Amino acid sequence: LPNQSDDIPLLALDIGGTLIKLVYFSRREDPLADDQQKNTLKEGQEVSNGSSRSYPIKGGCLHFLKFETRKINECLDFIDSKQLHCGGMHIYLDTLTSFQLKIQGLFIQITYTFLFIGIYPRCSFEAARNNNAVIKATGGGAYMYVNLFKERLGVSLDKEDEMDCLVSGANFLLKAIDHEAFTHMDGQKEFVQIDKNDLFPYLLVNIGSGVSIIKVDGDGSFQRVDGTQAGGGTYCGQGMLLTGCKYSFDELLELSQRGDNKLIDLLVGDIDGKMDYSKIGLSASTIASSFGKVVSEKRELKDYRHEDISLSLLRMISYNIGHIAYLNAKIYGLKRIFFGGYFIRGHACIMDTISYAVDFRSKGAEKAMFLRHDGFLGALGAFMSYEK
Ligand code: ADP
Repeated sequence: LPNQSDDIPLLALDIGGTLIKLVYFSRREDPLADDQQKNTLKEGQEVSNGSSRSYPIKGGCLHFLKFETRKINECLDFIDSKQLHCGGMHIYLDTLTSFQLKIQGLFIQITYTFLFIGIYPRCSFEAARNNNAVIKATGGGAYMYVNLFKERLGVSLDKEDEMDCLVSGANFLLKAIDHEAFTHMDGQKEFVQIDKNDLFPYLLVNIGSGVSIIKVDGDGSFQRVDGTQAGGGTYCGQGMLLTGCKYSFDELLELSQRGDNKLIDLLVGDIDGKMDYSKIGLSASTIASSFGKVVSEKRELKDYRHEDISLSLLRMISYNIGHIAYLNAKIYGLKRIFFGGYFIRGHACIMDTISYAVDFRSKGAEKAMFLRHDGFLGALGAFMSYEK
């Protein structure tokens, strides 16, 4: 990102158990785009650059970035280097002026007295400390790292409820962004047109380190109805343990692409190859027991390929979440299930597995839907809470 000396950013954070998600607005057109793209970029057209994405909107650009929570100092360095905490200070100071933030559809309008921009073009640590700068933050880390933010950046974290933020982030995306929701089945992605007047109720399944399942009835009206501790952190943690802690999440996922889970999972057909399982709605290739084949084999851990272990784990976790989601949708009579959280992050194999689970359990009656900004629901919700 280029230096943004003339920029007044707005920043919000979702500090989770594994990842910090950061959303900020800058008035610059599009810091991630190269010169050629800059000339051709249109509003709403996204630019992606490794772990960060920029989304040009009227009057500036929304940026989405992630950092590992265990490396929180990298996140603080980034905020400091870009002076992103200035936005919080300006908002705070602006109580006597005409500050106004409106988010309507893709249109973000910010009005404030430019006097402040002139007086405080940069935000020093001392200035932030003296003026009680505030950044909106959600997730467990919003409580845990209060002192660190104060010490390193001189800012306070204004904590927003995690579920509130997830829901308001999802509602905003589903109502305001065209082509936000899509299905993903057998490698095929299909966008779903959402009628914003007919959005509720729906089930939101957020797969982060753990999983939250939320019944959403309207703006600000929701209930966390279920959850499971077997989520993205479980896939990562268990995958690392079983493979000697060699791989990151991305590497584990990459390994799974070359895996064969039949070598580890016990399939229905393995139990009795001759039986007609279709009578009970199963096929011979259905997994009867994840990792079940290992039990009857006298092999050592080193004899199992990491690729196969990773795929078995991925299927076990994803099928389970898809199954629990479907059951909740059934209990509450919900027709729509949206999946979010950084575990999904647009990974085709994860979406296909979850879709298969929902399709299989609902006998084709329901389809899993995914969101393009799946990992940033909480951070977006915190960002939008400046409006309150
Ligand atoms: P939390 O808020 O609990 O940190 P997230 O929604 O950020 O949850 O999701 C964290 C999960 O995302 C991890 O447990 C892991 O399964 C998955 N994940 C996806 N990409 C990455 C990555 N680059 N690094 C670590 N975990 C990742």
